[in-house]
Amino acid sequence: MALIVHKYGGTSMGSTERIKNVARRVAKWHDAGYQIVVVPSAMSGETNRLLGLAKEITTEPDPRELDMLASTGEQVSVALLALALQSLGKQAVSYAGWQVPIVTDNAYNKARIQSIDDARVKKDLDAGRVVIITGFQGRDADGHITTLGRGGSDTSAVAVAAALKASECLIYTDVDGVYTTDPRVVSDARRLRTVTFEEMLEMASLGSKVLQIRSVEFAGNYRMPTRVLSSLTDPLMPLEEEANSGTLISFEEDTNMEQATITGIAFNRDEAKITVMGVPDKPGIAYQILGPVAEANIEVDMIIQNQSVEGKTDFTFTVPRGEYDKALKLIDGDVKAHLKAAHVMGDAKVSKVSVVGVGMRSHVGIASQMFRTLSEEGINIQMISTSEIKISVLIDEKYMELAVRALHKAFGLEKA
Ligand code: ADP
Ligand code: ASP
Ligand code: MG
Repeated sequence: MALIVHKYGGTSMGSTERIKNVARRVAKWHDAGYQIVVVPSAMSGETNRLLGLAKEITTEPDPRELDMLASTGEQVSVALLALALQSLGKQAVSYAGWQVPIVTDNAYNKARIQSIDDARVKKDLDAGRVVIITGFQGRDADGHITTLGRGGSDTSAVAVAAALKASECLIYTDVDGVYTTDPRVVSDARRLRTVTFEEMLEMASLGSKVLQIRSVEFAGNYRMPTRVLSSLTDPLMPLEEEANSGTLISFEEDTNMEQATITGIAFNRDEAKITVMGVPDKPGIAYQILGPVAEANIEVDMIIQNQSVEGKTDFTFTVPRGEYDKALKLIDGDVKAHLKAAHVMGDAKVSKVSVVGVGMRSHVGIASQMFRTLSEEGINIQMISTSEIKISVLIDEKYMELAVRALHKAFGLEKA
């Protein structure tokens, strides 16, 4: 009997009415003969509410206790969904991640899944039960509860699907698939029928919050067929139709010659940049600036170093906005003194906009078209970075939406 994993996000689980609809949909799949494991998120707004409570108590909460707190959101969801399924006459059982167990490393707030024990879940499935497992969490080797980072239920679902060797992982959300860009920013964004794994990985890492990046990595590593689809349709719609809806992440490059050069546009509001001016241009300088940042566990994204003038140069890099204060303090303190830098500047009001597409490999001129479009809108580019299938620019955050719309149009991504 084929096993399918369903994941439902916060909006999909947002009220008891919505949870009843999830139960109806899951029961439909179960009635059709599938074994089903469901991985829900917390009800929408709940994780923010819980983290907000911690903030009311302290500005520097202990990461372990934050995970203890945040993990409760999903625990509420799984129990309510089990009750909803039981009231439809289904046998259903819910588990918290630690009960399965889903074992992670001990990096609180951003833990990585290391292993998933399938024994307990398989036993329930074989006994005809629907199994519901909390998204977003697990436990470390010492039994402490950990969470996987915001949006982490996607990762839980794909990892559970891989561990159980499911035939497919269906990610139900509040949009009906992956679009050329966030449909909340560009109203005529187009839904993609398929997206290659590589493109999805880039889009997720460049800020498209529709899938957490680690879920895409799991899908790639285990070649898990993964589909993004809507939870807001009629839960009793024909199963065949539902099973083919949404966007499938494909593992083969589309051979369709008509395929557009650019597949999508991603953006990330969550950026900040730091510039160190007047540092000596000599070997080891990048290490001396970025070493302490890495040691503080702060991720660095874009980096540029200017041509040196009279042996001195400027060095700029970006960090997640949430880590900006910490990074700036570090650079403006010890690092500046150590390097005898002339000046340290920062700007936390920047955003990154990226164009993504495997078609870029075989087409030239994408960068110049991107830069021309931004220049026609009067948008200044502060930093640029590229890979084989993407070009990213850092711009003033106030032009972010304008840039996304202009590029979406310039690359002809809108609905036909
Ligand atoms: P869930 O709670 O179901 O996990 P999320 O809010 O995490 O849902 O992700 C879905 C949201 O992702 C959509 O509502 C949409 O605004 C946003 N999004 C960003 N980029 C895209 C994209 N390229 N295609 C579809 N949705 C996108
Ligand atoms: N509830 C968690 C969050 O809000 C995990 C998730 O929704 O995927 O980030
Ligand atoms: Mg999400």
